[in-house]
Amino acid sequence: MSNAPLRIGLTGGIGSGKSSVAALLVGHGATLVDTDAIARALTQTGGAAIEPIRQSFGDAAISAGALDRAYMRQLAFGDGDAKRRLEAILHPLIGIEAERQARAAAAGVVVFDVPLLVESGRWRQKVDRVLVIDCNESTQVERVVARSGWSREAVQAVIDQQAPRAARRSCADAVIFNDGGLSRAQLAQAVGALWQHWGAVHT
Ligand code: ATP
Repeated sequence: MSNAPLRIGLTGGIGSGKSSVAALLVGHGATLVDTDAIARALTQTGGAAIEPIRQSFGDAAISAGALDRAYMRQLAFGDGDAKRRLEAILHPLIGIEAERQARAAAAGVVVFDVPLLVESGRWRQKVDRVLVIDCNESTQVERVVARSGWSREAVQAVIDQQAPRAARRSCADAVIFNDGGLSRAQLAQAVGALWQHWGAVHT
């Protein structure tokens, strides 16, 4: 019997279904640590990343006290060095805040939603299990276009910058294949089965 929470790293490409799975896990009683939400908070007005970003990128990167996302997206997309500099500021701060939230959680299961878990490397050793949500790229494109109205090319460009599906799957302790053929009810069933399996092994 262990009192330390089971730490699950949840990852997957854009539009794969991470948020849907995270919500289902929360429904089973998990505490969610959402690293995208942490990144947004860090880069809002008054966020801890604002001054380091201003020092590194200048006033042009800040608009009304918050990170100018459009400016930064444009800059980081074509410039690998700018992307790395931004990540060097954000990733340690995200790690600290994620850890703070995890420690505040009651014992049980903590789910870290980390879109770039495979790409960033440092997350693998911070979690006990990696859960990968996988689906075909065409499904990712369809979902994100439907959800956000982005062009297919814009979604594909993001996919191309993320880790390949095979690399993600090779880091996984479990994979849920959440493709077009899987209904929401079947997705819920798959998450429920995994919850039972991992919960039973953990306690
Ligand atoms: P992002 O990385 O862009 O935040 P995500 O991996 O968190 O995406 P979700 O937001 O969970 O993915 O899912 C993307 C879209 O696809 C959402 O609109 C969601 O409702 C839908 N979706 C996910 N899984 C299914 C499914 N099995 N059946 C139908 N729709 C689904």
